[in-house]
Parts: sequence; structure tokens; C-alpha cells
Amino acid sequence: MTEAWGPDDDKPRRSAGPVRVRVPAKINLHLGVGPLRSDGYHELNTVYHAISLFDELTARAGDTLTLTMEGEGAGELALDESNLIIRAARALATEARVPAHARLHLRKSIPLAGGLAGGSADAAATLLACDLLWGTGLSRDELGEIGATLGSDVPFLLHGGTALGTGHGEAVSPILARPTTWHWVVAIADGGLATPEVYRELDRLRAGGSAPVALGPADALMAALRQRDPAVLGAVLGNDLQAAALALRPHLADVLKTGAEAGALAGIVSGSGPTCVFLTADGAHAQTVAAALADAGVCREAVTARGPMPGARVI
Ligand code: ATP
Repeated sequence: MTEAWGPDDDKPRRSAGPVRVRVPAKINLHLGVGPLRSDGYHELNTVYHAISLFDELTARAGDTLTLTMEGEGAGELALDESNLIIRAARALATEARVPAHARLHLRKSIPLAGGLAGGSADAAATLLACDLLWGTGLSRDELGEIGATLGSDVPFLLHGGTALGTGHGEAVSPILARPTTWHWVVAIADGGLATPEVYRELDRLRAGGSAPVALGPADALMAALRQRDPAVLGAVLGNDLQAAALALRPHLADVLKTGAEAGALAGIVSGSGPTCVFLTADGAHAQTVAAALADAGVCREAVTARGPMPGARVI
């Protein structure tokens, strides 16, 4: 049961539980990857966009910290101390000086290692759910600071919407544009791609002079967002990691070609892949493109999604 709402935020302050949080997947409308920094991260200039493909995390009071799950990746994803959900709960408990006691359950729809930041989404959901269950009373920004130590995309997934990400993606500023709904098709691949491997491949391609010219800042993308025309937005979607993902997974070229032939306005690899996302004109067009991708058998599943969506929210 919700008891109160925080003064500087739209989230409740404490609940007796269970607390259920829904969190979206993210795609990158623009992913500009700069050079490798001395701290091992690449400097990013990215435009994040939260879409209507959700994981759901439920937190209940407990005597220890436990995690169970169902859905995508069940039986494959480790539920031990390595899981970002457990790590997020422990990080919050340490920061707030409370015992890390909760029974957590994940209903997962975001594919593993898909370039949709499912792990970061789950960490964001956990921070919000445990904050409420434990009454630690942190703001979304404070949760974001803890989240940034767990994964670069966690701060964005607490906020959602469409936002500019800089640094290694953890510094997030919302992009304020008149409300527009964009319609996507998400082509989910069989198996994942490890993000570090995709970055290493990009470094290799760049060192060998065979990578496309780096995208740089997202100015054209930001201008296109303001025009609210999917054809205009489609023309400027871009991802510096795409060449690397295609080098590691050449079959993704067939996925992109199939989506284009089916009439999608644009198609790109999402983040580090192997998920591909296609921009369409409206909901009916998205259904048509998704059906064509499914019929062609080029992906495990093709689903429609809308964006932007809010970040992690109590439901
Ligand atoms: P990103 O683009 O943020 O690097 P991704 O979408 O490609 O991520 P994720 O599904 O977020 O991939 O996770 C990458 C890896 O993180 C997984 O292969 C898994 O080993 C680890 N991981 C730890 N906890 C989780 C979790 N709760 N959900 C998914 N992956 C997790």
C-alpha cells in the first residue's frame, strides 16, 4: 500500500509491499561512439528512447535477499550475486544503511544481451522497488547516481522518454519536444551479442581503417525529432556500433534488408545488437512490417512497440 508521495518527485515514498515496477527497454536513435578513453570507456553521444517492451520486477518483504524469475532468459540468466538485480539491491542497501532484505521476482520480456539494455532496466526497476519497500526515500536522481555505478544505461531507464546521453551514457538530459508517438518494429534475434565484444570489434575496424566515418554529435537527430515526421526521423537514425555488430553477425544484414523491403522507413541495429529496430509510419504500418519479418523467418520474433515511454514506474 502506498503511503505518501515525495515532494520533488512523482514516486511514492514507502510501501508495505508487494511493490511492482514496470520498466521499458531502450533503443538508441543515435549512437555516436567516440574514441576509447583511458578509463576503458568510449565517449558516447547518444539519443536514448524508451519503448513499450517491458520487464516487471516485484519486491516483497523478506528475511534475506532472494531472486526468482520467469520469461525471457529463464534458466539461462544467473540469479546469484552477479545478477544486476541483486547488485542493485545491495548497492541501495549499502548507500541507505538498511539490511538488504527482500524477495524479488522478475517477469522478463526484454531479451538477454539484445542491445536493449534489459539488465540495466532491471537494475533501475530494483532501485525504485527497493527504495519504496525499504522507505529509503531517495529521489530518482539519487537512485540514478547509484545506478550509474552498475551500468551506463541505468540513469536513463529511471527517467525514460527520449534523452541525450553523454559521458559513457550515464549523464542524461531529457529532450523536450512536443509529444509524438513513434511506431517501431523490434526484430528479436536468436542468441545475444556481448556488448564489450562489439566495442572491441569497432576498435578493430577503426584501427584497420574499415569502419564508417564516426557519427559525432546528435544535432541532426535532435532537429528531426522536433519535426515530428517519421520519414524525417528515419533519414537520420544512426549507430556507430552497427558496422561492428554486422561484422560479428553478418546475418543481421538480411534482417535489415527484409525490413527495408517490407517498407520500413528506416532500420538500424539497436545499441550493440543483435536486435534490429525499424521505424514505421503508424501502428498499422508497424503490424505489416512485423508480419513480413516474421514470415521471412529472419528473426526469432518481430514485435511492434511504441515510444517514448516513461522510465521505471510503480504499477
Ligand atoms: P547493454 O546494451 O546495456 O550492454 P544488452 O541489452 O546488450 O545490454 P543485457 O541483457 O542488458 O544486454 O545484459 C548483458 C549481460 O548482463 C547479460 O548477458 C548477463 O550476463 C548480464 N546480466 C546481469 N543481470 C542481468 C539481468 N537482470 N538481465 C539481463 N542481463 C543481466
